[in-house]
Amino acid sequence: MDRQCLHCGQGFLGRSDKKFCSNQCRSAWHQSQQLQQEQSVQQIIKRLSRNRLLIRRLLAEGYKKVGRAHLVELDFTFCYYTHQYKTKGGNTYYFCFDAGYRLLPENKVLLVLWQEYMHAFEVEKLEMNKEQLP
Ligand SMILES: [Zn+2]
Repeated sequence: MDRQCLHCGQGFLGRSDKKFCSNQCRSAWHQSQQLQQEQSVQQIIKRLSRNRLLIRRLLAEGYKKVGRAHLVELDFTFCYYTHQYKTKGGNTYYFCFDAGYRLLPENKVLLVLWQEYMHAFEVEKLEMNKEQLP
């Protein structure tokens, strides 16, 4: 049966489940797959770092509340964050490493920096939930 190599595109003869014309093509294809995955991870890290820098820069300039549209204009990406922090009051903060934000009504965004007590509270909350399990 005539097959087409996934890597170089050349036709070859072989079993129907064979995808590559040679071992070289198979390993080259896997390497390029790994590279692509690594590149998309790097892209996300770049977005996260950009978000972090934007928050820190705005805070340093004295802005604690900004419009959501303004952040988008500055190339902020809301879909990427590293972790969340939920307050006892039920508010959720989204963090890009040590810089975070909370969505406010009327398309406003509250900017904050990560604080030590936030981690302590998170751990406390986890332990509390564990005790509630049957
Ligand atoms: Zn090939």
